[in-house]
Amino acid sequence: MAARILDGKQFSASLREDIARRVSALKEKGVTPGLAVILAGTDPASEIYVRNKGNGCREVGMHSETILLPEDVSQDALEAEIERLNQDRRIHGILVQLPLPKHLNEEAALAKILPEKDVDGFHLLNAGRLMTGAPGVIPCTPRGALYMIQQTGRSLSGLEAVVIGRSNIVGKPMAALLLRENCTVTLCHSRTRNLAEHTRRADILVAAVGKAGFITGDMIKPGAIVIDVGINRVDGKVRGDVDFESAAAVADWITPVPGGVGKMTITMLLQNTLEAAERTV
Ligand code: NAD
Repeated sequence: MAARILDGKQFSASLREDIARRVSALKEKGVTPGLAVILAGTDPASEIYVRNKGNGCREVGMHSETILLPEDVSQDALEAEIERLNQDRRIHGILVQLPLPKHLNEEAALAKILPEKDVDGFHLLNAGRLMTGAPGVIPCTPRGALYMIQQTGRSLSGLEAVVIGRSNIVGKPMAALLLRENCTVTLCHSRTRNLAEHTRRADILVAAVGKAGFITGDMIKPGAIVIDVGINRVDGKVRGDVDFESAAAVADWITPVPGGVGKMTITMLLQNTLEAAERTV
């Protein structure tokens, strides 16, 4: 194996130490950063994510609240809950755990969150700010992925970056962030022709597809930075979108799954919540 590992656990641990220090400093000024997570229904994967977010908050000394709503909650009741949290001065970050039950309108619910409390960065205003280069809240997973890319110490300006996947949560904001770093960005998706021709040009390759082992070593430029966002459950194990073994033989830097980008996502949520609280003092 040639590639060096971008260790999400290690980066997260040192970032969380810094977050905890800044939380203590805020508490001395009388402000405890607070995150509220709304979970509608009982999806087992969502329940685990929500629990991990609460644990993350406690670890760094933040206040956390989980609001459990029934699977059949109405749109009005969900939005009333968001409205209540918008007014709550102890809460600096509001997160609606996605996906919502099918009958609910996700877009309308997210639009109700005050943009300054939108710590997921999914509100249209924050998405627009990211596209136009204005300061705003950056979605947690791409923010964590960019942080890892920056830890390679390479100058990103002018590098060829290829992002696979165009979701609003990962692919699109990732592409916008890399563009902001002056990379030449290609955004690939399910209709892209000759995918490997694009990926083989990539100095930075970000895979956010949702297909285990989809990117193999022969699709990677020697010396590339490979960021694997995928979380796929196969035979009870978590696997990324990148075939780690063949990719690590050609890449210079690579993120493992588990222990890579996934570890960074909650840390960046804590970071976004901390920054939202800091902006109130
Ligand atoms: P999504 O299903 O919304 O998007 C997947 C994207 O992949 C789509 O834009 C689609 O066009 C593209 N795609 C599908 N087949 C393709 C193909 N054959 N060639 C090229 N592109 C193709 O998924 P998402 O929400 O963006 O998540 C992607 C992956 O990242 C999933 O495995 C998800 O579990 C994971 N994820 C991880 C984290 C984390 O914290 N690490 C956070 C969010 C999502």
